[in-house]
Amino acid sequence: MGQGVLGVPAAILSRIARAAGTPTYVYDADAIRDRYSALTGALAGVPHRIHYSVKANSNLAVLKLLHGLGAGADIVSGGELRRTAEAGIPPGDVVFSGVGKNPLELRAAVLAGVGLINIEDESEVDAIESVLDDASVAVGVRVNPDVTTETHPYTQTGARGMKFGVPLDRVPALAGRLVAHPRLRLVSIGMHVGSQIADARCYAEGADKLTGIISFLRDDGVDTIRSVDLGGGLGVSYTGEPAIDLGLYAEVVRRLHERTGLAVLLEPGRFLVGEAGGLLARVLYRKHSGGRDFVIVDAGMNDFVRPALYQARHRLSVVEPGSHPLPAVRVDVVGPICESGDFLALDQDLAPVGVGGLVCIEGAGAYGFSMSSTYNSRPRAAEVLVDGPRFGIVREREPMELLWIGETAEPQWID
Ligand SMILES: *Cc1c(COP(=O)(O)O)cnc(C)c1O
Repeated sequence: MGQGVLGVPAAILSRIARAAGTPTYVYDADAIRDRYSALTGALAGVPHRIHYSVKANSNLAVLKLLHGLGAGADIVSGGELRRTAEAGIPPGDVVFSGVGKNPLELRAAVLAGVGLINIEDESEVDAIESVLDDASVAVGVRVNPDVTTETHPYTQTGARGMKFGVPLDRVPALAGRLVAHPRLRLVSIGMHVGSQIADARCYAEGADKLTGIISFLRDDGVDTIRSVDLGGGLGVSYTGEPAIDLGLYAEVVRRLHERTGLAVLLEPGRFLVGEAGGLLARVLYRKHSGGRDFVIVDAGMNDFVRPALYQARHRLSVVEPGSHPLPAVRVDVVGPICESGDFLALDQDLAPVGVGGLVCIEGAGAYGFSMSSTYNSRPRAAEVLVDGPRFGIVREREPMELLWIGETAEPQWID
């Protein structure tokens, strides 16, 4: 029996794999609570509000848990809006961000009465106006602060020339239009500079820009701003790389509050759930080919795409060694998908494991299930929440029939 991972004893992980099958995502409620209180503890005394970024892990049980701890939600789609409602998060606690909100999503958000819509472009004001009717809504401006971060190119969002946010020099004109509007209330200025950020100086640099633009707007007569939104992106340590230093980060938040006098909104996703989750997979085969040692498991890139998409490295642990475990070696852990990019780990050390063994890909709580797909017509994994000695299935493995729901081989032809 291997060591426990994620703080969950190996015996419980084994029981989960038997009860729910594999592949299965496992989330540890206590680990999520610990992360939440580490963040709020570091921010003690600073007026702030945490809006959990739903896209990191949108399971209803995770949303309910975080809401129970006091978090609101940061959403990027109409689907996430519905999820937050299903999980019992009041619409007033929801911030709607995103670069491509469509008219249906905007209408749903306005009708629901979301707490804040973060506007990313002047043309989005027209889109909101066209769905407002007699309603009114609080809006923020997501600024592009022109801050570069040392993260994967796909997870940088705050640099000049990216699709995100309103360039700083265009903010005053946009703010002027919002302030003059009878049914839009400009209450927030914010940013989101990227994901998996370990260097607090990125936030400091962005916070300086936000402070500057807020004081410019105030000098211009704008007196409706109530909060400043620092976005999410706090980095975690997957394989020993540095994570965000909470002390330094909290200093940035404190200073931003002191210089603006505003409450600070935070939108962490990965930080709260990333290290609290793992993906359990069963070893199907061991294979030696071309001088490499493969462990073929029943989870693939459709279940967990981070290694293939971001070249992400994750810790691996062996929960059950299986039969005739081969000695510890450097292995490639790969899935069943017909694609060479289908790997969960390349050239990584793994404890002895054989066919039938159970492995856990650690640090898979964020951007794991939420980015999974049914590629190769593989039903999506089950999800399990562990709470102390108990566990419960919080999403059944997707039934195969759902894979072709809405499809037909005999369409009603339209000509
Ligand atoms: C994705 C996203 C977040 C969360 O990012 P993490 O790296 O998971 O903290 C926060 N805000 C916005 C607008 C986002 O798009």
